[in-house]
Amino acid sequence: MSHFDTSGLAPARDRLTEDGIDVVRLGYSDLIGVDRGRDVLVSRFDRTVGGGVAFCRSVYTTTPLGGVVDFNGGLSAGLPDIVAFPDLDTLQAVPWEPGVAHCIADVFNPDGTPSQESPRYVLRQLVEQFAALGLRPIVGPELEFYVLEPAEGTPTGWRRYGESTGHVYTTGRKGDPENTLLDALRHLGNYGLEVVAANHEFCSGQYEINMWHSDALDAADRAHRFKDAVKELARRRGQLATFMPKPFNDEGGSGFHLHFSIVDDAGAPLFADPAAEDGLSELARWAIGGILAHAPSIAAIANPTVNSYKRFGPDTLAPWLIDWGLDNRSAMLRVPPERGGATRLELRLGDASANSYLAIAGMLAGALLGIRNKIEPPEALVGYGYDTERAEMLPQGLGQALDALERDKEIGDLLGTPFVEAFLAYKRDELQRFQSAVTDWEFREYAHHL
Ligand code: GLU
Ligand code: MG
Repeated sequence: MSHFDTSGLAPARDRLTEDGIDVVRLGYSDLIGVDRGRDVLVSRFDRTVGGGVAFCRSVYTTTPLGGVVDFNGGLSAGLPDIVAFPDLDTLQAVPWEPGVAHCIADVFNPDGTPSQESPRYVLRQLVEQFAALGLRPIVGPELEFYVLEPAEGTPTGWRRYGESTGHVYTTGRKGDPENTLLDALRHLGNYGLEVVAANHEFCSGQYEINMWHSDALDAADRAHRFKDAVKELARRRGQLATFMPKPFNDEGGSGFHLHFSIVDDAGAPLFADPAAEDGLSELARWAIGGILAHAPSIAAIANPTVNSYKRFGPDTLAPWLIDWGLDNRSAMLRVPPERGGATRLELRLGDASANSYLAIAGMLAGALLGIRNKIEPPEALVGYGYDTERAEMLPQGLGQALDALERDKEIGDLLGTPFVEAFLAYKRDELQRFQSAVTDWEFREYAHHL
């Protein structure tokens, strides 16, 4: 007996077949935002996915190096199953892979209850909490990434694609010598991502592609697919696209900025107040207040790697302090200058490595606590945003951020204990492995002189 509503599956199979699709790539996000899935033959679609497609639950906490980190209900519980069931509204043909459609799945336990570690579930829960207040969060994701090409004989085996300086906001072959970015823009534009524009970012080999805004869950789905697609498109060219936060010592990091506003049930924007001096409504101010008050624990999921904390720093365009400002790019939270229906916040905290569902869920959790508790933000920053006299610093490392998340029971309640526990177990293992690894920096620093 299936726990799921299977009524849409056979019609979907027929529609897909008519459209020339013979494979559905059924995927869901793990804790670090990797799309895990299976390619399912359309001819067997309804039969294969009717009861949910089984995966091992410990895939949530499988590391990039293949280690399986234990968490409650994982390895020590005998590696039980989870099952993925397609959200048919997300079926989307993959433009560069003829005959293939991608479909995002929701993840359940075998008894049909939701898998609470699933990042998409965590975000759904947050969106429902807003809905209970008659509010709809709207999000515009903005992701930066580097493109690399193979370089034999170098320590990592990769170098920056199109190496050259000063190409920020240029277009064409100068900063994109093989049209990698241009081709990606066209493909992504046909992939239902609401992609609108692409440009060379500030650093050599670094790019940004912008997406339009939409409801939070849809925005997270699109950002999740975007990252997977950019990496896949680069692989087809023998390149490596990376959303690693700070891949190089001599260039800046890659951010995952989130444009965020709230509308009511009828779609009317709620962040503008023309009568206020700064044009921001009470709701917007409270959202800012909550995000700032909970920034250290939000950082744990918006900046989820050991490497993330090397992106922060003075004069980086990335944040350093827990502050906000009106049209100020040196602040952690910038309020762009547009008002009226376009009034929004731009949270610049997260880096590109963040899981899109979790980064958005973390921001929403902070905002919701601000709204519930009517948290007034501190004075807006004016001018230079990296003066440590003026505001608290962000966590200086992953360990500090994870500790903040563990202590923050209000955020923990909104994200859900099973998720927070699994996430902390996974990330503390990563931190411990890093702390005991000998790095090339240490060898250079010590080996010859000591
Ligand atoms: N790369 C910067 C960051 O890490 C942001 C640059 C920009 O303002 O777009 O957040
Ligand atoms: Mg940018």
